Amino acid sequence: MEKTMVCIVCPAGCALEVWERGGEITVSGNRCRRGEQFAVRELTNPMRTICSTVKTAFDDVPVLPVRVSCDIPKGRIFDVMAEINKVLVRERVGRGDIIIPNVLGLGADVIATSDLLRAAE
Ligand code: SF4
Repeated sequence: MEKTMVCIVCPAGCALEVWERGGEITVSGNRCRRGEQFAVRELTNPMRTICSTVKTAFDDVPVLPVRVSCDIPKGRIFDVMAEINKVLVRERVGRGDIIIPNVLGLGADVIATSDLLRAAE
């Protein structure tokens, strides 16, 4: 089986060709080892990060930027987004504060990435 994909590990965006034969994965087109690792992970367990916003109860800062603290399985992105969309922040949290601990048991926290709420106090 051959697949093509673009490596998203760095801005070079190498075009990768990936072959899987008998459980062995071969990668070409990568300019460095990270591209091979990316392709293997894409085939076996693709992971992604999420950056988004949550609603707040404060008129001066109605939404607050957040991200997950580490990559999550690509297939769970919509589930995690649904959890993020349920949130209404009622305290003036700051950058790095945990908004959702261990979201959906995936081992990643959803954390604030901005001090906007605190700055507006
Ligand atoms: S293979 Fe290496 S150089 Fe190419 S995009 Fe991936 S990380 Fe960057």
